[in-house]
Amino acid sequence: ITYTEGVGWHDAKVEPYAPIQIDPAAMVLHYGQAIFEGLKAYRQADGSISSFRMDANAERMNRSAERLAMPALPTELFAQSIRELLDVDHEWVPAAGGEESLYLRPFMFATEPALGVRPAKEYRYLLIASPAGAYFPRGVRPVSVWLSREYVRAAPGGTGAAKFAGNYAASLVAQAHAAEQGCDQVVWLDAIERKYVEEMGGMNLYFVYGSGADARLVTPELSGSLLPGITRDSLLTLAKDSGLVVDEQRISTDEWREKAASGEITEVFACGTAAVITPVGRIKDHEGEFVIGDGEPGEVTMALRDTLTGIQRGTFADTHGWMTTLHA
Ligand code: PMP
Repeated sequence: ITYTEGVGWHDAKVEPYAPIQIDPAAMVLHYGQAIFEGLKAYRQADGSISSFRMDANAERMNRSAERLAMPALPTELFAQSIRELLDVDHEWVPAAGGEESLYLRPFMFATEPALGVRPAKEYRYLLIASPAGAYFPRGVRPVSVWLSREYVRAAPGGTGAAKFAGNYAASLVAQAHAAEQGCDQVVWLDAIERKYVEEMGGMNLYFVYGSGADARLVTPELSGSLLPGITRDSLLTLAKDSGLVVDEQRISTDEWREKAASGEITEVFACGTAAVITPVGRIKDHEGEFVIGDGEPGEVTMALRDTLTGIQRGTFADTHGWMTTLHA
């Protein structure tokens, strides 16, 4: 779908996947106005196809657009783009029952050819998709993380709360550094004190204090510089549904280290559309490393994972109206 200032969004079409043409002076190539979303379509047991919290993704894309001085895309057009894509070909949504789904990638960028820093007057919104298996090929196994003190992903007042392409470009060096340290993922800390946990490369974080009926969950509060994950938000609700206390608050790396050692923090997991819920098992920084639990995914982690994936796959009741049928 194309946007032209003064005209609005126009010319929605579905086309065979192919390279697109873009002017060498297209403003996205120079000044970086590019945002995106990520959501999944799931095959249900009866063969129909549903998406999870599609409107929340549409709303987040518009919040990202606002931050990057880009035009909003009406929620109906966002939904229509997904429906029309699936109407053309719904066979590529993997069969029900497994970990597979169809990953949907809506994105928007500035196409106006102009040199000079100001918001562009022309944009394109595109949607591409790809069948997706498990994010971590080793399955639900705890991942290891590196606490990044050299690099920050986002600063107060910056673009961290937007799903802005540049945030990901800025994170690549730190991700490579984490890999050199033998870790799977980076954990980002706050930009000012480099002390409070923010999130991971493509996932938000949850900490489980205690166990059994006394378990309490803590997730870093929305500081303005971490991405408000839709999985994070869904888990706040699902945890409360299951009687767990959940607090959104700041948590420091010292607290993480100390309470992991004392056994007060019993589980840590990361959550996001792509990775669903993944346990964090080993944490490393310049001071050394420490572990959470016994290397096996924790009980609270797996129970929440079962509930979430059950709703997405239609085997658990969707009591919050999160699923939308895209194709009967
Ligand atoms: N943080 C970052 C930086 C991300 O890219 C993502 C993935 N969109 C998340 C968190 C998790 O968000 P969601 O649950 O909406 O996928």
